[in-house]
Amino acid sequence: MLTTVTAGALTVRGISVGGVYTSLAVPELRLVLDAGSSPRSAAAINTILLSHGHADHVGALPAMLGIRALSGKSRPPRVVMPSEIVDDLMAALAALSKLQRFPLEIEPIGMQPGDEIELRNDLRVRAVRTFHPVPSLGYLVTRRISKLKPEYQHLPGPEIGARRRAGEDILESEDRLELGYATDTLINALDHAPDLFAARTLIMECTFLDDRKSVEAARAGCHVHLDEIVERAERFTCEHLVLMHFSQIYRPDEVAGILDARLPPWLRKRVVPFVPNKPYWPG
Ligand SMILES: [Zn+2]
Ligand SMILES: [Zn+2]
Repeated sequence: MLTTVTAGALTVRGISVGGVYTSLAVPELRLVLDAGSSPRSAAAINTILLSHGHADHVGALPAMLGIRALSGKSRPPRVVMPSEIVDDLMAALAALSKLQRFPLEIEPIGMQPGDEIELRNDLRVRAVRTFHPVPSLGYLVTRRISKLKPEYQHLPGPEIGARRRAGEDILESEDRLELGYATDTLINALDHAPDLFAARTLIMECTFLDDRKSVEAARAGCHVHLDEIVERAERFTCEHLVLMHFSQIYRPDEVAGILDARLPPWLRKRVVPFVPNKPYWPG
């Protein structure tokens, strides 16, 4: 059962339970974030950003590749990941290809913190450092948009049209931080890459929510506790904050209430909890 939420102009669709599986598609940006589950709808998307190599984030990649083949996609997807795990992932896919008697192909792109690549003409992704016991990355996606130069912004439409027809250069481009993604990390990743705070939409983990798990215990596992978000509340200038990767110790139907009680109301308004409207599993 997939969950779908909207965060401004973006849709986030997929499934996420901390330690169990996480895979989110953002169709407007043509991106899949992690491959811990293989929803059929994600198979149509050609770029996958992997945060790290834990099974709850990459375990379903072979199934995702199989579904792509079934749906007639012949081009291997681009899979962006920490450069340290490229060889291991390719070896795993080679072993599974042998097992299946069917080639599971990807176009691997290894990145280091600070690297940036073009995804398409108007879209770029930058890798940022995250802190987990294995090689890991967060991502910042920027979109280049065209807008009127400031000196033209006050002009009426017909005048702008006339100037444009006369060949005046009325547009300038601006790089907009469209999306940040940070999961399976100490919250310090945000302190080291403060652009994450400022992305229009930030999708980040908040694995633990209250004193059923202490901040110290959360940090020992390299995960984020809600207390640490509350501590930094003023810094979250993002328009939408999608919190996900909640631990299964919280029932989906209690997450929103905990956020209501613990977040400052102005920040709570921007927070979109990524939880299903049904229990994670029966019983
Ligand atoms: Zn995880
Ligand atoms: Zn992990």
